[in-house]
Amino acid sequence: MKIAIAREAIEVGERRVALVPATIQRLVQPDWHFLVEAKAGEGSYINDQDYSDAGAAVVADRAELWGHADVILKVAPPSQAEIEQMCPGTALISFLNPLGDPELIEALAARQITAFSMELIPRTSRAQSMDALSSQAGIAGYKAVLLGAAALPKFFPMLTTAAGTIRPAKVFVMGAGVAGLQAIATARRLGAIVEAFDIRPAVKEEVQSLGAKFVDIDLGEDTVAEGGYAKEVSEAAQAKTQAVLSDRIAQADVVITTAQVPGKRAPILVTAAMVEGMQPGSVIVDLAANQGGNCEVTEPGKDINYHGITIIGPTNLPSSMPVHASQLYAKNVATLLEYLIKDNGLNLDFEDDIVDATCVTHGGEIRNPRVKAALNIEVQVS
Ligand code: NAD
Repeated sequence: MKIAIAREAIEVGERRVALVPATIQRLVQPDWHFLVEAKAGEGSYINDQDYSDAGAAVVADRAELWGHADVILKVAPPSQAEIEQMCPGTALISFLNPLGDPELIEALAARQITAFSMELIPRTSRAQSMDALSSQAGIAGYKAVLLGAAALPKFFPMLTTAAGTIRPAKVFVMGAGVAGLQAIATARRLGAIVEAFDIRPAVKEEVQSLGAKFVDIDLGEDTVAEGGYAKEVSEAAQAKTQAVLSDRIAQADVVITTAQVPGKRAPILVTAAMVEGMQPGSVIVDLAANQGGNCEVTEPGKDINYHGITIIGPTNLPSSMPVHASQLYAKNVATLLEYLIKDNGLNLDFEDDIVDATCVTHGGEIRNPRVKAALNIEVQVS
């Protein structure tokens, strides 16, 4: 089994790598051969020699590497040009953004790639150590608070000094999933007073256990979809939240938004008018920038100043902490690899919930019904 580790495109801002040397060392088996693209670890401060020392062969020529691979491991979804460099029949394990970019999945199927999407690992305890969405969201939540604290012209903690007492900063976290909970914990560690809101009432206890106050709003409708994810809420429910949220946002020094609904544009939770109601110098960090943003005025990938409020719209925070992001992602990928490879081949048992959910293309077919539906909608619209 030849397993290739791709070099990500650092030029487009991806510094992570799919497997790190320490993980390779733990994975080494007689029939598994690791091939790593030269400089694949550069963005994560890992050099080629570290990979060689771990037992991988470093290959400079991508065409040679991908041409020989049974499995290609990546972090970022491949570009169209990269898909064309893959040989039909190869397996690919990567983030693939299947619901956001179904055309990419269509292209992988057309190329006869057996593709596994890391976004589609089931959120079950059995698959927990493969859950790359969680491992990377935790990093994003942590870093979002650091960015917010760095941009805020104030202290986070309460300080009692000879020159006077400083009141602690107020942080409001919207969306208390994996990223939101890590943001709450980080802001608390820095000494801020933290409040949080989520449409899933089940997170209330988790928020409180981290020392934050949960902003309780009865939406009067079911907000939880299959797999524990949030549903898109109705306009009426959204309107119901506005008055309460406007008030909490106006009081906050830093607002961190993380709300997402899989396969949909992120909900707008902070309107332009709400931003205008904040104190000048306050900060919004919008972790949903990639999905259109939770704040109406967010510009993905940019830091902007709107009416004196700094709005930060990062699109790939895990890549800004590549050492630990790669280490955790590598563990997720390694666990999936060990699960998938049996008797020196891929075990495509589609009766298995992890294999079935994760494998988006095989034998020229798109396997995921939601991706298929998204493509049909696209076809009808055009
Ligand atoms: P996510 O990134 O899809 O969304 C982030 C948060 O935004 C969620 O908590 C969601 O409820 C919230 N949200 C959506 N719309 C909102 C709105 N209009 N207003 C306010 N908040 C809104 O979520 P995630 O972090 O990937 O987690 C999704 C679910 O999976 C959660 O239930 C989580 O606990 C669960 N999970 C389970 C496991 C496991 O069992 N192994 C692992 C990770 C996550």
